[in-house]
Amino acid sequence: MGQGFDTRSVHVTMKRDEGVPTKVTPIHQTSAFTFKNLEDIENFYNGERDYLYTRVGNPNTDELGKAVANLEAAPTGIATSSGLSAIMVGILAIAKAGDHIIASEDLYGGTYELLANELTGFGIEVSFVSFEKDLETEIKKNTVLLYTESITNPLLRVEDLERVVQIANKHHLQTMVDNTFATPYLVQPYQLGVNLVVHSATKYLGGHSDITAGVLVGDEDLLTIARTKCVNLGANLSPFEAWLTVRGLKTLSVRMDRHVQNASKLAKALAKHAAVDKVYYPEFVAEKGNGAIVTIDITNQANIDTFFESLDWIKIVATLAGVETTVSYPIGTSHRNLPVESQQALGITKGLIRISVGIEDVDDIIRTIENALTIAKK
Ligand SMILES: *Cc1c(COP(=O)(O)O)cnc(C)c1O
Repeated sequence: MGQGFDTRSVHVTMKRDEGVPTKVTPIHQTSAFTFKNLEDIENFYNGERDYLYTRVGNPNTDELGKAVANLEAAPTGIATSSGLSAIMVGILAIAKAGDHIIASEDLYGGTYELLANELTGFGIEVSFVSFEKDLETEIKKNTVLLYTESITNPLLRVEDLERVVQIANKHHLQTMVDNTFATPYLVQPYQLGVNLVVHSATKYLGGHSDITAGVLVGDEDLLTIARTKCVNLGANLSPFEAWLTVRGLKTLSVRMDRHVQNASKLAKALAKHAAVDKVYYPEFVAEKGNGAIVTIDITNQANIDTFFESLDWIKIVATLAGVETTVSYPIGTSHRNLPVESQQALGITKGLIRISVGIEDVDDIIRTIENALTIAKK
């Protein structure tokens, strides 16, 4: 019997006892590694020893990639400088000029921009489509990849990953899923047959809003290509940030338990508030819970500026997933560059608020948000 998820997440540290038996992995904050002689250099290229230069590989970044692969039950993984660079090297491991990607239309704003504005410049064609509709009609001769998110941002649609994998397999396509909002604690897309799973480790994996990092996990053959892209495009993560992210991973289970409990209580409470038109909170994500983001729409019932000015200790940010409760304004930040028609079609309104529910006392969270809503009520 293998170890359980919680045990594995605590024991992510690789054993690196080079004479000093430290309990956790030391930070290998170095840009390069030394060689005894020319034969030793050859040994690196033969695969008989590790590490040459940190852009090419470093013990701390390796530790993070492997730790997340372990939690996703995937064969291997790499850590990168950001979630977006992990998405970039993952896509470039699959698609080249002339290929076509089908991407979900309700993606994280930064991913939308990467696909729409950058990858198209490399000659990669992208269609943004509703993954709830008939995906198969969108498949072309040059389609190579279906790209989506396990829980979408900011409206928290839960993707039917089994269906996506089934369609991909039928048409010999690859699949790639951004699992940032769910984390491997709730959903493990690789286990469902997804080829590449990507994380903005900036969010729950790190968990403390003090690093920017990404992780890509999946099959050895795709990861070998992605690793080369990461090296050649300079998308490596710094050793210190990898080390901090590994520290965050060790408490992923306990943080997620509290996050999801608090979020489900907040979602229930807000559904009853007179200033709220609509609460978006997913159902049936996993037995352990339904995620820790609650999105509300107050367009018709309350004044959005007053709400954001009445939040007391809750901070306004353009991110999510730290231990503190924070709120963000999708139309003003992450989704501001989405075409207006797409914003409207998706429901990203001027009254939409994304709440990243923290691990504080839930009564304090509920009281503070309810109070801001009451003040903002028209
Ligand atoms: C934040 C985020 C990203 C981008 O990650 P960075 O670490 O900011 O580059 C990608 N996908 C989702 C779902 C995110 O929330």
